[in-house]
Amino acid sequence: MTAEQTAVRDVRADFPILAKDLDGKPPVYLDNAATTQMPRQVLDAICDYYCTDNSNVERGVHKLGMRATDRFMRSRERVRAFLNAAAAPEVVFTKSATESLNLVAQCFGPLAVSEGDEVLISGLEHHSNLLPWRQLCVRTGATLKVAEVDEHGEPSLESFLAKITDRTRLIAVAHVSNVQGTVNPVREIVAEAHRHGVPVVVDGAQAIAHRPVDVQDIDADFYCFSAHKMYGPHGTGVLHGKAEHFERMAPLLLGGGMAPIATYEDGPVGARPPLRFEAGSPNIAGMVGTAAAMDYLDDLGREAVGAHDAALAARAAEGLRALDGVTVYGAQKPLGGIVSFNVDGVHPHDVGGHLDTFGIATRTGVHCATPFIDGLGIVGSVRASFGVYNTIEEVDLLIESVATAEKGFWSNERFLAG
Ligand code: PMP
Repeated sequence: MTAEQTAVRDVRADFPILAKDLDGKPPVYLDNAATTQMPRQVLDAICDYYCTDNSNVERGVHKLGMRATDRFMRSRERVRAFLNAAAAPEVVFTKSATESLNLVAQCFGPLAVSEGDEVLISGLEHHSNLLPWRQLCVRTGATLKVAEVDEHGEPSLESFLAKITDRTRLIAVAHVSNVQGTVNPVREIVAEAHRHGVPVVVDGAQAIAHRPVDVQDIDADFYCFSAHKMYGPHGTGVLHGKAEHFERMAPLLLGGGMAPIATYEDGPVGARPPLRFEAGSPNIAGMVGTAAAMDYLDDLGREAVGAHDAALAARAAEGLRALDGVTVYGAQKPLGGIVSFNVDGVHPHDVGGHLDTFGIATRTGVHCATPFIDGLGIVGSVRASFGVYNTIEEVDLLIESVATAEKGFWSNERFLAG
């Protein structure tokens, strides 16, 4: 065992799906930036909730209703502690990072942005941290500005500073890029933005599984992520927001649970945050599973998990760079646990299909980051992304398998044209 492997205990046995046979091969799952697998501890917590406490929350006075409510509230408190948020009402449950970002754009955006103002994002954002801001600009008459990336496709503090003007009213930036794992200096960006009186939204979708996140330390106005990228279930997202903002914001959805009373007349509607933003019956099992995933990550140690994932990504980047005709994107050490690459003359889909024949799951294409991929002048890339259960042997298999990738259906002129 090497230092890289011992950074986290051997966790593979915790993940039932990794023991499955895929056409005679065990899965080599390197698509963790899309979705991570769930350990038995998370699956058991979800199953246990349904088997022992399932009911609706904040409604019934019966025992199961109160037990479900208790688990729901304990899950929120668990997320608060995981993020070191100041108070539980600063944690809003959504269905995904995407919904969280839309909630901020639609409910906070118009409070901060008016005609003639500017919204600033970086040049490597995921569509989920681009389209809501573009729509906000269209609706308000503001302008979307983009902090440029350098020749390696990486933005910097300076690239943000260069674009902050006296009309900048909001900044939205990814903590970690989903394409090439670039770690953005979000703490510094937030500090500078606040010096200019500009609020900042941080998309933590690719950061949350790979590093400790302390929202008070980062000090962003909003921070969000999805549980399914941090060993939790699908359909559960988190939006952390500062209480001062949540208190001023109107709800996105209206209905049960978010209003203590309703009348037939107009009037202010909405409970206090966080319930104001959680209309309808919540995904209680999802929240229980999210809390269990946080326990799991903390049990392993988030620093150790981050070091493990980064070490595997660094090994992959180094090995792939050493191959003839392979381009690895990004200059930074891939601290985000993600490596993006291409094989000259071979369409990324063909490389992905080839890797699949070895049981290796990667993501291929534009990674929901079209402007960034267009800026690199490529049709897409192959992305390998690492998690707690990945091993050095899997990285080495990836490198060996890429070395034998050949042209297939996609690698013709039409599909290779950038
Ligand atoms: N932001 C980033 C950086 C992402 O990688 C993703 C998911 N690929 C999202 C936002 C959206 O996450 P979700 O689909 O879970 O809402």
